[in-house]
Amino acid sequence: MYDVIVIGGGPGGYAAAIRASQLKGKVAIVEAKAMGGTCVLRGCIPSKVWMHAGALLETARKAGDFGLKLTVGELDFDAVVARKKGVSNDIAMGMAALLQNNGVEVVNGRGRLVAPGKVDVDGNVLEAKSVIVATGSQLKKCDVPGADAIVMTTDQLLEMDAAPASVLITDPSYIGVEMAMLLSVFGSKVTMALPGPRILPDEDQDTSQRLAQSLRERGVKIMARYALVKVDGKKCILKGSSKEAEVEVERVIVSARMPVANDLGLEALGVKFKEDGGIDVDARCMTACPGVYAIGDCTGGWMLSHVASAMGICAAENCMGKKSTFNASIVSRALWGMPEMGSIGLSEEQAERGGHEVEIGGFPYSINGLAMLRGEVDGAVKVVADADTGEILGVHIVGAQASELIGEAALAMQLECTVEEFAKGFRVHPSFSETVVDGFRDADGWALYLPKRG
Ligand SMILES: Cc1cc2nc3c(=O)[nH]c(=O)nc-3n(C[C@H](O)[C@H](O)[C@H](O)COP(=O)(O)OP(=O)(O)OC[C@H]3O[C@@H](n4cnc5c(N)ncnc54)[C@H](O)[C@@H]3O)c2cc1C
Repeated sequence: MYDVIVIGGGPGGYAAAIRASQLKGKVAIVEAKAMGGTCVLRGCIPSKVWMHAGALLETARKAGDFGLKLTVGELDFDAVVARKKGVSNDIAMGMAALLQNNGVEVVNGRGRLVAPGKVDVDGNVLEAKSVIVATGSQLKKCDVPGADAIVMTTDQLLEMDAAPASVLITDPSYIGVEMAMLLSVFGSKVTMALPGPRILPDEDQDTSQRLAQSLRERGVKIMARYALVKVDGKKCILKGSSKEAEVEVERVIVSARMPVANDLGLEALGVKFKEDGGIDVDARCMTACPGVYAIGDCTGGWMLSHVASAMGICAAENCMGKKSTFNASIVSRALWGMPEMGSIGLSEEQAERGGHEVEIGGFPYSINGLAMLRGEVDGAVKVVADADTGEILGVHIVGAQASELIGEAALAMQLECTVEEFAKGFRVHPSFSETVVDGFRDADGWALYLPKRG
């Protein structure tokens, strides 16, 4: 009898297994394919190798601004794929070694709950006091008639040996936006057909507008409120609210994802599901069936690697008798585009809808010393705060190193620091982190380096 059986060896399951083992649990992790999950094998890590290749290409193209006389040649796609495979393998091997080091038993096979605490792995039933479901997500199939012939999934894109000449992207989320940025840097003609009015519909409107502007400047065509309804050869028929449009592309990119929550025996145990198909859990990551927990992408919502790991830690601690909760209000998000995005908490609109009297602070990269000297002035920090209490409700950054800078806001929100306290801090000069403090000073009403407010 195990203390904990974890189903799924992605970043969520892996973190859960190690944490439960640290707490002296006898732990098994069941994985149907390869250890590492989406994140390591076909998600975060591979895509960020490509994003870095794209960013380097852009930097090299601009090197002349700093007197470097470079001749930028062709991108060797095979070399990028080889690097991606190497890094993914190294991380996956490291994960396997660490599981072994922690005494976690790895069971290869497909896991399915046959009763609370009973997991069938390809015909062999294992028993545990608690089970953590960490089965992740999968690509949503594109069922548009005729699309099959020209579909390119993110899995295929991350293995590409050349950039497609032209693509249609219909996913407005961060994966779709990253792919749009990447392919436009590599010279593809990119069209985005969005189901709603804007890219990144769950992010602050300013973030969405800034990134859309940046995409347009790269030549990406953004068509709001258009749905792909039919593909005929290379011709894509798009239906808008009042009219139809046509675009000819070589490939339709499929990147939208859905939770893997079916065929796990959960329905019979009384587990509930959310509207997005994710497994419904409480703040302790427990499902409606006592002793059965679910974490990460299979619970829907923000489907992000660090969320999966944090939920994994929470579930493991609860399985091992601690009282742990997952704080969903401090989920940070990022996009490794050109420019980057980092965000946390509520957007201005969400804060207003939530009944807050909102105070906004902002600071543009265009007057930050480091951004100016490096020529990376595209970006801004936006702080959303409660005007009455000074509580930080959200922080939204577009610009260089935004994915790192958002960690400042994550720490501040985790420690419940107020706008006033953050604004009193100071940072290394010259640095991008100064823009974050300046944004908080603006929210506190005393931005030193901005013109006086009217
Ligand atoms: C192109 C792309 C880029 C991304 N970039 C980022 C990023 O930059 N940052 C970020 O935070 N997130 C990113 N993500 C999302 C991230 O990969 C996921 O949020 C993360 O992998 C979720 O972790 P998980 O452990 O919940 O699930 P997964 O990583 O999906 O792992 C689930 C595991 O469970 C296994 N499994 C499923 N069913 C069973 C079963 N019945 N029995 C046994 N095993 C099973 C699967 O084989 C898989 O290994 C990206 C995703 C994609 C596709």
